[in-house]
Amino acid sequence: MLKGKTALITGASRGIGRQIAIDMAQSGANIALNYIGNPNEAEALRQIILEENVSCAIYECDVSDYNASKKMIDDVLNDFSNVDILVNNAGIARDNPILRIKEKDYNDVMDINLKGSFNIIKHLYPSFMKRRSGTIINIASVCGLRGWQWQASYAASKGGLIALTKTVAKELAGRGITCNAIAPGLIETDMTASLTGDKKKDFIASIPLMRAGQPSDVSKLAVFLASDLASYITGEVIKVDGGLCI
Ligand code: NAP
Repeated sequence: MLKGKTALITGASRGIGRQIAIDMAQSGANIALNYIGNPNEAEALRQIILEENVSCAIYECDVSDYNASKKMIDDVLNDFSNVDILVNNAGIARDNPILRIKEKDYNDVMDINLKGSFNIIKHLYPSFMKRRSGTIINIASVCGLRGWQWQASYAASKGGLIALTKTVAKELAGRGITCNAIAPGLIETDMTASLTGDKKKDFIASIPLMRAGQPSDVSKLAVFLASDLASYITGEVIKVDGGLCI
């Protein structure tokens, strides 16, 4: 479905981003992998991806750093000559009740989840514009649609990302660029590993499909949205949550 295309995936060393990278490579895309702190995981993933007979390169970059993001995009465009698919997946959570949230934690979440996505979109836009094509997938969250207790910064960042998705979709449509968001519910990754025991059981009991999601539940939709089959879809926010937010 993605043969001959090139995808840049942020936060691809672990979890959902890692699975999106694998599935997109299996669909034929060349892969530019971004990470911030786990070079070994990134290199191990590169080896897996190379087995699919596509190109793959790794880029260490903090997406919340505007100038570093610009340099990463320049490097990716140098190495691959163009990018067709951008997946803004890099994200963190710092859960706490509002009274206990530290200013630094609030800022870090907003800077990585929201500003980081803006940085990459802004720096890649000139290349997309020149080619009059490109597709952007932002990994948001059901928290950004519904709000979630103890997740004020996270929910605000994902709500902002959803508004950014719709704005980018409107503003860039005339250039042939699409932009959509995926809003996962509970997906089993390092990010949600601290949810255990009865709390996890209770949470799962509130999910109509009665199970936590896996990264592959999200990555399959990402592959579809990145493919030509989805070329008339833009500005959408699609939940992958087992019915949690029906
Ligand atoms: P994860 O397993 O914790 O992985 C996070 C990834 O983001 C890692 O690859 C990490 O790189 C990277 N990253 C973190 N900060 C970064 C930065 N400043 N610059 C570049 N990369 C950075 O998380 P996940 O569960 O896969 O989450 C992926 C996305 O899905 C996030 O946006 C998250 O908000 C969203 N999401 C997750 C869930 C869920 O239930 N898991 C639900 C809804 C939405 P290193 O490995 O180098 O640290």
